[in-house]
Amino acid sequence: MRKNIVAGNWKMNKNLQEGLALIDALKVALADRDKVNCDVVLGTPFIHLANAVAAVGDKKIGIAAQNCADKASGAYTGEISAAMIASTGAKYVILGHSERRTYYGETDATLKEKVVLALANELTPIFCIGEVLEEREANKQEAVVKSQIENALFTLSAQDFSKIVLAYEPVWAIGTGKTATSAQAQEMHAFIRKTVAEKYGKEIADNTSILYGGSCNASNAKELFSNPDVDGGLIGGASLEVDKFTPIIDAFN
Ligand code: 13P
Repeated sequence: MRKNIVAGNWKMNKNLQEGLALIDALKVALADRDKVNCDVVLGTPFIHLANAVAAVGDKKIGIAAQNCADKASGAYTGEISAAMIASTGAKYVILGHSERRTYYGETDATLKEKVVLALANELTPIFCIGEVLEEREANKQEAVVKSQIENALFTLSAQDFSKIVLAYEPVWAIGTGKTATSAQAQEMHAFIRKTVAEKYGKEIADNTSILYGGSCNASNAKELFSNPDVDGGLIGGASLEVDKFTPIIDAFN
């Protein structure tokens, strides 16, 4: 069966010392719990990855990069390859975040390359999709999300697709304090699962974790995660403080 996952996306926050202090605090908080009913992932800045992997030790926290290059290696000054990320011990890479699409011009075509390279290096892509406000107001959200998935992911083999984690992040809900309602999240997640089932079959669709992201916090996580097709969250702001992040993990208890 699919996994429940709570993943933090630190974005461009936390220097090294602050990041390591947060990891230490999270380890202490999780050690206090009898059981953690979801996988926990932290998306740190590239430069912290190796230290973050060392800091989590053998604890059950996975480390994620927030991007990777669309080329394998070579003369691409400033880029970070999927192989470099894997060599730090990180296990995940967030790809296609709307901030990357909007501010850094990432397209479905480049994302397709990134996904292939991530998988070739045994990283689990956490692949983000989601519509902007105007698209929702025009009731185009399903068409937008479907095309993002089709264009970047549907050339993958079934075996490769089964390694992908999806994250539905309506752009109008990111960092705005405006969360999708529980019903809006469930409706879209069910649509995404149906879209995957039509291409790869029900078994793969049923085994795909689909996370919700966008102003998810301690007060709305339980309701969002109680939906049958919402398998956890990709958390921005509320992942930056242990007291805000752990109640989201506890939403699965
Ligand atoms: P916020 O939780 O800050 O809205 O960010 C969501 C997000 O973009 C996670 O990737």
